[in-house]
Amino acid sequence: MMVLQVTGENVPQPIDSFVYAGLCPFVLNNIKKSGYLKPTPVQKYALPIIMSGRDLMACAQTGSGKTAAFLLPVIDALLSDPRDLIISGHHCEPHVVIMSPTRELALQIYSEARKFAYGSTVKTVVVYGGIPAYHQAQQIMRGCHILVATPGRLIDFLSKGRITLSSVRFMVLDEGDRMLDMGFLRSIEEIMEHPTMVPKEERQTCMFSATFPEDIQHLARKFLHNYLFLGVGIVGG
Ligand code: ADP
Ligand code: MG
Repeated sequence: MMVLQVTGENVPQPIDSFVYAGLCPFVLNNIKKSGYLKPTPVQKYALPIIMSGRDLMACAQTGSGKTAAFLLPVIDALLSDPRDLIISGHHCEPHVVIMSPTRELALQIYSEARKFAYGSTVKTVVVYGGIPAYHQAQQIMRGCHILVATPGRLIDFLSKGRITLSSVRFMVLDEGDRMLDMGFLRSIEEIMEHPTMVPKEERQTCMFSATFPEDIQHLARKFLHNYLFLGVGIVGG
């Protein structure tokens, strides 16, 4: 049985088709090209919530389609309300930051983002640890709208002043429970509380997790603003 729970005030109506999500034709066309016929349960609820500008804490099991649930509204916002990229040749000011616990997951999000933004001017860059930072530094210096990053490498660039968070419109924390299992709590706090970070009232923040233990609930209360909770499937914790 599919367990579904949405809590919070003024919950937007779920959608049954991508066509009713209010996405621009460009994004709808890329969805079609990717072969997605209809939204998964988490997408049915998460899309209208994020499209309406609300913060979201979503829990759904692995494989339920959480990536597109946040990428589609994010790319739509970048296209519908384009803002200039500041390219200084010294640092990078991403408009969207997506945090992912591992290089593999970061690369998956990166390729999905490229797929849904294909043919647009939206620039996506991925950074992760385990390899020298030089090439990644060169890439971010050319400017990026969407930055997909593992916490350690992001902090590395932040501490060198190579990335600033003062133009962030969307902050996405993917795989929250895995982040904490991997010991990234301090890193997440450091990023979310970075001196350059846009206040939570002035950005949109979305957290995704497969489970909802107390430490994730704590993070949600701390870093989300007037958020909705969405639980799909068997939610533990
Ligand atoms: P999660 O992040 O919840 O673990 P993913 O976003 O990685 O799940 O999605 C799992 C798989 O399902 C991916 O291969 C993705 O391309 C596919 N997928 C996601 N949404 C849809 C959809 N609406 N229709 C068909 N396939 C989808
Ligand atoms: Mg995922």
